[in-house]
Amino acid sequence: MKGFDKLSPNGGGDSVEARLRHRIARGGPISVADFMAEANAHYYATRDPIGAAGDFTTAPEISQMFGELAGIWLADLWQRAGQPAGTLYVELGPGRGTLAADALRAMRAAGLEPAVHLVETSPVLRGAQADRVPGAAWHDDLSTLPNEGPLLVVANEFFDALPVEQSDGDGGVRTIDWRDGRFVPLGHVETESSPASLAFVREVSDRLARQGGAALIVDYGHDRPGKGDTLQSVSRHAYADPFEAPGERDLTAHVDFSALAAAARGVRVSGPVGQGDWLDAMGLPLRAAALAKAAPGRSQEIAEARDRLASPERMGRLFKVMALSARGWPDPAGFRDLLTRSP
Ligand code: SAH
Repeated sequence: MKGFDKLSPNGGGDSVEARLRHRIARGGPISVADFMAEANAHYYATRDPIGAAGDFTTAPEISQMFGELAGIWLADLWQRAGQPAGTLYVELGPGRGTLAADALRAMRAAGLEPAVHLVETSPVLRGAQADRVPGAAWHDDLSTLPNEGPLLVVANEFFDALPVEQSDGDGGVRTIDWRDGRFVPLGHVETESSPASLAFVREVSDRLARQGGAALIVDYGHDRPGKGDTLQSVSRHAYADPFEAPGERDLTAHVDFSALAAAARGVRVSGPVGQGDWLDAMGLPLRAAALAKAAPGRSQEIAEARDRLASPERMGRLFKVMALSARGWPDPAGFRDLLTRSP
């Protein structure tokens, strides 16, 4: 058991644990979504958790190939849409800014130099992004994005960090109480949903319908509903108890792509397809060969990164790629032939 009082001799008045305990003491058990929102806001605001020295690693941190192929996907759409002026690059939850830097380099090579708008709440990660993406503008949410110009939106491992609500199937929302010195979830879980994720998808799709453009959504998750409880915590690259040490550990849930697709309105939805299939369709093998040729000493490392990103036993199948695109924009690459054989 975590000795709260021992760890916080002054009462820990401003720790997430203390705040949550106070809320529960005052108003009774709180919902899973409230718990997750408060824990993750603190977690991301106070650290850079990404990479070998942190809690978890993400695709853009594994290899530059990931962001480059995302950039090529966006530039290809933009070119076939007739190279509209005033196009904006928008990324949701850009982490260290690695994906943005790699994607923008690939886009520049294709003649696209969009203004960069990053939606990020963490001051620490905004700092990391500023180092890698000079000239970017930051937003707390989508509401302050420019209202004109097509949007090229990317969200990698963003939706899995948004709060989920869990319920017992009879309309009862699962709550979390403080008992015997720890946070205890009450009741069983039949269904899980992420109202915050659905709100983001609605807002993105409304903007795409009005302003034009496309969105690339990549995350780990499932393409059918009904998975039940998927809330998980990862600390130092190992699974941990999601209700322990709130705000000090990463909390995520599987993304329900069918729910995201249903929330999109006024746009075309492509996929989801497996990340491995999508990356292969986008030319991952060719890009890996070109990089290995340019740096023969790194060919082993490049082959390992390719395998980690694309092979079905690793990230290739659990991670999925879905696109939203404005009506009147061209068919997004990497989906058409995959719709029937994706996992
Ligand atoms: N896309 C990055 C980082 C993924 S981690 C990568 O692939 O490496 C999740 C990111 O989303 C972090 O940058 C985190 O600070 C941000 N984030 C989490 N909740 C958010 C919210 N509600 N609004 C904006 N950004 C959020």
